[in-house]
Amino acid sequence: MSNIKLQTYNQSQHGVSTDEISPSAQAIITKLIEHGYQAYIVGGAVRDLLLGKHPKDFDIATNATPDQIKDVFQRYCRLIGRRFRLAHVYHNHQMYEVATFRGVAQEGERVVKQGHIIKDNVYGTIEQDAIRRDFTCNALYLDIENGNILDYCEGYDDIKAHRLKFIGDDSKRIIEDPVRMIRAIRFEAKLGLTISDQTKQAMLKQYKTLSNVSMARLFDELVKLFHCGNALAAFQLMNEMMLFSLIFPHASKEISKNNDHYEFIQRALTSTDSRIKSGKSVTPIFLFSCFLWPMSVAFTDKYLNSGLSEYDAINKASNDVFHITRKTLAIPRIVQIGIRNIWLLQFRFKTTIGKKVFFTLEHQRFRAAYDFLILRKQESEELELLGDWWTHIQTQSKTKQKELIFQKKKPRRKRKNLNR
Ligand code: ATP
Ligand code: MG
Repeated sequence: MSNIKLQTYNQSQHGVSTDEISPSAQAIITKLIEHGYQAYIVGGAVRDLLLGKHPKDFDIATNATPDQIKDVFQRYCRLIGRRFRLAHVYHNHQMYEVATFRGVAQEGERVVKQGHIIKDNVYGTIEQDAIRRDFTCNALYLDIENGNILDYCEGYDDIKAHRLKFIGDDSKRIIEDPVRMIRAIRFEAKLGLTISDQTKQAMLKQYKTLSNVSMARLFDELVKLFHCGNALAAFQLMNEMMLFSLIFPHASKEISKNNDHYEFIQRALTSTDSRIKSGKSVTPIFLFSCFLWPMSVAFTDKYLNSGLSEYDAINKASNDVFHITRKTLAIPRIVQIGIRNIWLLQFRFKTTIGKKVFFTLEHQRFRAAYDFLILRKQESEELELLGDWWTHIQTQSKTKQKELIFQKKKPRRKRKNLNR
């Protein structure tokens, strides 16, 4: 990338109207320009608009340093991040990420360990900023003043040809930041951009570098990946690139051991995708409770065979699952608690008589656990019946529910008078 060539596309060429850009993002850019800085819409938003999709957020790039951004927006601005210092600017109760152009790595604060970028706060020009971005499709800048799109990395042509291309050398860019492999998979799954065979080879060669990434960052990226709207394709690509088994070594073994488990995961991901398509909420708790379920079943069976009660077995199995998973992924505690509850509720669903049914129905995780049960329905006739029962009971009035729940109870015998 020694001689960078700028190509400019005007509005009549690219067809993106500035009306499609959030007025708040435009207001932030206008204010930066009024203060004498350059500022553009950059990254995912420009890419998505060119693909005819609705951007999820509008990122802004500027030549103002974080401190200068803070000076412009004062109390509406918060500086965050250590690895990458960024400004969060608030406008109309919405947060916008404003990033300073990043420069080349000769001096300053970039810390690189074995090719992996640990810290990067070297600022630079727009050209330098463009080539520091991950993919050519993410390195386009939209100038709201004249509607032009600035392209330093041939990203425009790549988008039009649906190509996902790293800027520069594949392996080098992966080693610098291995999370880019997960991003690549997300953009292929979500946007239908194609990763070339050559890039896939580089990913397969470097897949193990993903273990250098902070486990908390990895968790966030996985959530974004599997909530991208095409989780099934993402899962297949993660497997193809060996990344799923790298992150979930134990769980992936259990999933591939048994076709029922594999199909269960596929159903879970399909259901996540259709929830997203219909605008319903999704939670990492459900996602990870599915990925880790086959593993949890294996441990639960082990404890049941050793004579523990089902409740204790599930609890102990959850402890084991989290203990093992902790070695490769940091699942937040709150998510772990939710997962354990979904699993325990699978056991509680077996009770369809008595007042415990009401505790189950009112449980905070009932909805997710019920969806989980429905995914398991086709595993056995018993689960099918149970699923139908819980589907039915929810739709009944309180009175009808009481009838159904208490009907099977044997009539109470009269208590003998113990004092007699
Ligand atoms: P989306 O917002 O749809 O997830 P995005 O491409 O906007 O996609 P962000 O994480 O919001 O993703 O990042 C904004 C931009 O910052 C990207 O388009 C890219 O130019 C740059 N970027 C993000 N992560 C990296 C990375 N790991 N390496 C290099 N550049 C990156
Ligand atoms: Mg973005």
